[in-house]
Amino acid sequence: MARRRIIPLFIPHEGCPNQCVFCDQRKISGKTTPVTPEQVREQILSSLPAAGSGCEIAFYGGSFTALPVETQRELLAAVAPFLASGAVDSIRLSTRPDAIDDRICELLRAYHVTTVELGCQSMDPRVLALSRRGHSPEDTVRAVAVLRQWGFSVVLQMMTGLPGDSGAESMKTAEEIIRLRPNGVRIYPTVVLRGTELERQMEAGRYQPQSVEEAVALCADLYSRFLSAEIPVIRLGLNPTEDLSGGEAVAGAYHPALGELVLSELYLRRARELLGPGSGKTAVLTVHPKRVSVMAGQKRCNLIQLQRELGLRRIRILPTETQLWEIHGYWETERTL
Ligand code: SF4
Repeated sequence: MARRRIIPLFIPHEGCPNQCVFCDQRKISGKTTPVTPEQVREQILSSLPAAGSGCEIAFYGGSFTALPVETQRELLAAVAPFLASGAVDSIRLSTRPDAIDDRICELLRAYHVTTVELGCQSMDPRVLALSRRGHSPEDTVRAVAVLRQWGFSVVLQMMTGLPGDSGAESMKTAEEIIRLRPNGVRIYPTVVLRGTELERQMEAGRYQPQSVEEAVALCADLYSRFLSAEIPVIRLGLNPTEDLSGGEAVAGAYHPALGELVLSELYLRRARELLGPGSGKTAVLTVHPKRVSVMAGQKRCNLIQLQRELGLRRIRILPTETQLWEIHGYWETERTL
């Protein structure tokens, strides 16, 4: 299926009633000021040729529905002519669970917003309090119910590695998210950004950041769980920006290709299960052509690890037109496993 074109428009920190300990949207988004209605029009016009018609507008980086109502109206009204002409076919926005009610939903519906992304981050009250989120797990449950009643698609964003989260809290969060049946989830391992409260806590020895390796292992567990519950994971890890890659990510699970590392870990686990010990044998793994590099891992680390762990003479990958997630394995000269 062709990937949906999205034109992202940023409102860094706008609407946020508080400062979450880990957050600096200016560094995450690479934008320092929020878009104005005029810039919305300009950015859509300049992005349309690349995005093509029928693309989606996304307001990210702040708490859209906590903006003054007039500001919300002005921003959404700037998109309206593009919706009317068919150049744009939908709008999505991200916000906080405690900034959703019937009045807000009525406004969003009137301007043809179709998807609302909620930063629930954790369903553990202690983790939320330590992260200074300023909302409760019950706010998320209630917001999802209200959004559903109004017919919105709902995407839930969760984080791993937050203060007070040992990993078990993230797994519990995933289970509660699955019970809410969102249309998709985003998983963001915590990155310690320069100048944030979380950096100060880390320097004072009060916060232990999650490493990339820990985040990859935990995210692979979470991904498997969402996959088996048939809930799409639409994003894993922050989008790389110049700021983040240039030193503003001081610790935590920042990697420009985190999503690919997690997929590689899932493929490694699956291949290990499929093959089992194979002392001195040559193994062949067949995967979808788009998943060859994922199966091999960065610098072929998965293949090196499998060869060593299973005592293989050799291992090779054969691209095959299968389903995206399918992997088959066999010993050369033997039948498919
Ligand atoms: S995490 Fe969300 S609610 Fe918290 S400060 Fe950042 S944008 Fe605002």
